[in-house]
Amino acid sequence: MTTDTNAATLCVHGGEHPEAATGAVTTPIFQSTTYLQQDVAAPQAWLYSRLGNPTRAALEEALTLLEGGRGAATFASGVAAIHAVLQLLPPQAHVLVTEDVYGGSDILFSEVARICQLQFEYIDMREPTRVAAAMRPETRLLWIESPTNPLLHLVDIKALADLAAGKNILVAVDNTFASPIFQNPLALGADLTVHSTTKYIGGHGDLVGGVVIANNDALVEKLKFLQFATGAVNSPLEAYLLLRSLKTLQLRMTKHQENATRVAAALQASEHFHAVTWPGLTSHPQHALAQRQMHGYPGMIAVRLHGGEEKFRQMVRKLKIFKFTASLGSVDSLINHPATLTHAKIDAARKQKLAISGDLLRLSIGVEDADDLIEDLLQAVS
Ligand code: PLP
Repeated sequence: MTTDTNAATLCVHGGEHPEAATGAVTTPIFQSTTYLQQDVAAPQAWLYSRLGNPTRAALEEALTLLEGGRGAATFASGVAAIHAVLQLLPPQAHVLVTEDVYGGSDILFSEVARICQLQFEYIDMREPTRVAAAMRPETRLLWIESPTNPLLHLVDIKALADLAAGKNILVAVDNTFASPIFQNPLALGADLTVHSTTKYIGGHGDLVGGVVIANNDALVEKLKFLQFATGAVNSPLEAYLLLRSLKTLQLRMTKHQENATRVAAALQASEHFHAVTWPGLTSHPQHALAQRQMHGYPGMIAVRLHGGEEKFRQMVRKLKIFKFTASLGSVDSLINHPATLTHAKIDAARKQKLAISGDLLRLSIGVEDADDLIEDLLQAVS
């Protein structure tokens, strides 16, 4: 397999090598802490599972191929993967961050800022000129989320990568919302792509994990060192589950998109909802950019509910299929109330500016029957 192989084939076969001892076609779970060494003069390929594990290596190869990178390091969570990116930076570095970033990233950035004295500055990245104006000589990282969590805004990855080129500024994109099927930031000029593999890549709501994929060997080497030195590694079992999930990623994303198309249209037609934001809608203010930089649109929809938080509380009690919870990207449909769940702890002024208020809902559309999903939402608000 190479990065030129089509994504659907990579999903099924990426990272797969028949196992040497038995010929097993499916990558086994190598549940071993350590590996027997034969001779001091002849180091073996594997030594210790924090350093490297064959199941994890197969997953990293598959994800590298899917994102078109040079190598990947997987971690125990998406946040641990983001933390690894921050550890690539020198002390005092200035970081420009997409304004409506995932709430957990926000918490991590505040903590790292305190300990490592990195300077995080949040800006609306929808206009590249605003990013250009905010760059400083000590800027070392553009932290991009696109589509953003929770507002589904987009950032022009290629425009920002062009701005950073030649300035010793890393460009990292949290690609969790799009998945490797619908967006490949490295092909648009980014240096690093990050996923919370907990979400679409895992896809079944049964694990927590993260990955950083890099576009050059020097960055891969640093990330692999950080993975081993800081130790927040993906376990062999999680790596196996992710490999298994990858096999259906293309199929699942296609269904998420199909269902989101139907649900977004139904929400637009309902008098109970307004401001339906989904990059696949022609009414999305950045739909042209979505068409340019994405290959499809995931199941994430932002929408505002007439009647706000009080109405939402009534709605939750009536929902039969959608689950009111914090995660996303799963086969089952989920509904999140960012103001009180995922983004409850972000800076109050920014929360107000972004209107992450009681009426904002973030839907993660699953792979159930679209008619059932629409009926569930509409009966719950009526
Ligand atoms: N990035 C995004 C966009 C997320 O939505 C999340 C979690 O919701 C994360 C990163 C963090 O991932 P994890 O919960 O796996 O640490």
